[in-house]
Amino acid sequence: MRFDLLTIFPEFFAGPFDFGILRRAQKHGVIEIKIHDLRSFTTDKHHMTDDRPFGGGDGMVMKPEPIFNAIETLLAESVASEKPAAIVLMSPQGTRLTQAKARQLANDYSRLILLCGRYEGVDERVIEHLVTEELSIGDYILTGGELPAMVVVDAVTRLLPEALGSATSAVNDSFEDGLLDYPHYTRPAEFRGWAVPEVLISGHHAEVAKWRRRAALRKTWQHRKDLLAQAQLTPADQKWLAEFEAEKINEKDRT
Ligand code: SAM
Repeated sequence: MRFDLLTIFPEFFAGPFDFGILRRAQKHGVIEIKIHDLRSFTTDKHHMTDDRPFGGGDGMVMKPEPIFNAIETLLAESVASEKPAAIVLMSPQGTRLTQAKARQLANDYSRLILLCGRYEGVDERVIEHLVTEELSIGDYILTGGELPAMVVVDAVTRLLPEALGSATSAVNDSFEDGLLDYPHYTRPAEFRGWAVPEVLISGHHAEVAKWRRRAALRKTWQHRKDLLAQAQLTPADQKWLAEFEAEKINEKDRT
């Protein structure tokens, strides 16, 4: 996967991609990350990438010319790949990034061009005639699209085959099967008097799997009930959910 990041602050990206899985994925050629300075695609003397809004009002708007120039230049470069490129504007008005969306990006494209907005955002003609989609990382407003673009690079990379050390690590993550992840424990088996659940040190794989499923279900029930409506639940899951509800009612009776 190749990532092209378009920004007026290229230095912003120094560091975050140099660690862990992202660093290894670049080293092994699983991903390539290119940072492009939008100012170098301007044609005026002052390298202007923004201007005042037509109609008046606060703030500045990112000009269309450098953005069109940059993306058309990038697309003209021949990048050997079987899959298409997506031109993505980071925007709070876009489709919400979810694990399913990250997986779709990882599967469907071999190149993601990520445009980082600033100020009030980009000239609407960029959205109407250039970008293929807008992507939001949540319902809040950040100062720029650089952090959201980093989030996309990170979330998509770990879903690429060969990016993670173990082939199964991503499959068990939260959201992958519609539930949150189960709790994890490591050595020591007892810490400050808190022991890890017995079953996890029993060596009984079927019981461990059963405990993990129930614990994942419980976490989801506690923190994200909304996910349960979409998750594929077995009769055993339904029984556990009924138990959690019953426990809650009993607790209420006790207080
Ligand atoms: N005026 C815009 C609005 O209300 O929709 C907000 C502009 S924001 C201050 C500047 C830039 O930050 C946006 O163009 C976008 O690239 C980025 N941005 C801010 N919040 C974001 C979010 N939640 N997801 C993705 N990008 C975001």
